[in-house]
Amino acid sequence: MAASGSGNQSGKAFYVTTPIYYVNDAPHLGHAYTTVAGDVLTRWHRQRGERVWFLTGTDEHGQKVLRTAEAKGVSPQEWCDKLVEEAWKPLWRHLEIANDDFIRTTEKRHTDRVREFVQDLYDKGEIYQGGYEGPYCVGCEEYKLPGELIAGEGEHAGEQLCPIHKRPVEILKEENYFFKLSEYGDRLLAHYEANPDFIQPESARNEVVNFVRQGLQDLSISRSTFDWGVPVPWDGRHVIYVWVDALLNYATAVGYNQNQDTFEGSFPADVHLIGKDILRFHAVIWPALLMANGLRLPGRIVANGWLLVGGEKMSKSNLTGISPRDITSHFGVDAFRWYLLRAIAYGQDGSFSWEDLAARYTSELANDYGNLASRVAAMVGKYFDGVLPEATADGEAERAVHDSLAKTVAEADRKIGDDVEFQAGIQTIFDFVKQVNGYISEQEPWKVAKDDSPEGRARLATILYTAAESLRAVAVLLNPFMPESSQRLWESLGAEPALGALAGQRVQDAGEWGRLPAGSTITKGAVLFPRLEDKPGA
Ligand SMILES: [Zn+2]
Repeated sequence: MAASGSGNQSGKAFYVTTPIYYVNDAPHLGHAYTTVAGDVLTRWHRQRGERVWFLTGTDEHGQKVLRTAEAKGVSPQEWCDKLVEEAWKPLWRHLEIANDDFIRTTEKRHTDRVREFVQDLYDKGEIYQGGYEGPYCVGCEEYKLPGELIAGEGEHAGEQLCPIHKRPVEILKEENYFFKLSEYGDRLLAHYEANPDFIQPESARNEVVNFVRQGLQDLSISRSTFDWGVPVPWDGRHVIYVWVDALLNYATAVGYNQNQDTFEGSFPADVHLIGKDILRFHAVIWPALLMANGLRLPGRIVANGWLLVGGEKMSKSNLTGISPRDITSHFGVDAFRWYLLRAIAYGQDGSFSWEDLAARYTSELANDYGNLASRVAAMVGKYFDGVLPEATADGEAERAVHDSLAKTVAEADRKIGDDVEFQAGIQTIFDFVKQVNGYISEQEPWKVAKDDSPEGRARLATILYTAAESLRAVAVLLNPFMPESSQRLWESLGAEPALGALAGQRVQDAGEWGRLPAGSTITKGAVLFPRLEDKPGA
């Protein structure tokens, strides 16, 4: 093998993806949920010192986008361009999403490679021509099995509905090209068996295994009744099925068939984050397509559950969805990023509620966390003129905090970095915050401050150092979730001169006691989480 003269050959990036989202409307809470999760996972691994590649983007082909554009009286490309530039990309910037790339399936770098990928399958005999008739949901862009449909009621009485969209399916009959998906059932089952973590959570894995065990049908991979898509290379009357086109973004975005260095430096994804409504596409069709073309399979597919608002699922077709900006304008971006991952166990169904968000904001962010930070800064200001004193009188209580921090860091790293269990990770970090609050309450530094003796001063210094050093670690651990407030805490602690930028702090080092040097300048910055009644517009 020839040595490469350039590029990082030191190993593969940790590669995280969100789904690419349909651009038939502006992003809603459900899209933001998955994308924030991807961003937090990305930032966490970056703080482990790993090279990470985080991809998101938009899925712009298919009948649904075409119909939406027609209804708006514009071309589908104009519709996509407008939404991507005016809605999608600005929202991700607003939410501080640190994606490395944003792929659009109408880009030439994608469409050319999709044609090559499908041509390769065709040349290998994996694709044949055939006919198919069956119920089709345009909302899902998917043929449904008759057994999956539900009977309509009310205005849809007598009709068969998609179980996800609760809208009538259409009977589609097409002469199409088919991928021999049915031949991959055994290999897929063997892969699930050999890789128990391939599909998370367990409920999603069970659903997929049961589905594949029932036997797979070949997959129609082209459409000829409309033309908004990537033309089939050997038959221009057809376009490639939008889901095959979309799934391939994970390969085309990192240089499939184009740049071998970047492709091998990233592909396959370590974690595909998805919603459970698109589980089968990712856990069945995607790996089968990769097997058919001799490519490696992704590490994990992690599905989040339904997001409910007042009992209604936030779906692709539910236009009553809450805009993420409605929430951030009231609570701020950090609280928004934190809340859904805090309130819902990732992978389970969960609800968004204004009342619950307001309650948690006040009790956990403002009272437990924000208050701790401002109290410690105020006391170092008052008793030590804002200069962090040295801890010279560590006792039992301090050693308990040191031990607890080390355990917190290890546990949070395992839960968030390895297991993709954000809620459990946040819980661990906030348990530590509570413990530090309890430590201060028990040590009563405001009483110790009345003792002017050298022993009293040493004791006071030790208490305040212990609290400030704990906050130094909390800023590191919460930075992936809440980068803005974490940065303000970092500045308030005067940590940057000695330790460098917050984003450069390694998670592995966060539990090492005593990193924040005595002598650091502690300032009472702005309140991390202002009380809601103090917030402008509240
Ligand atoms: Zn549907």
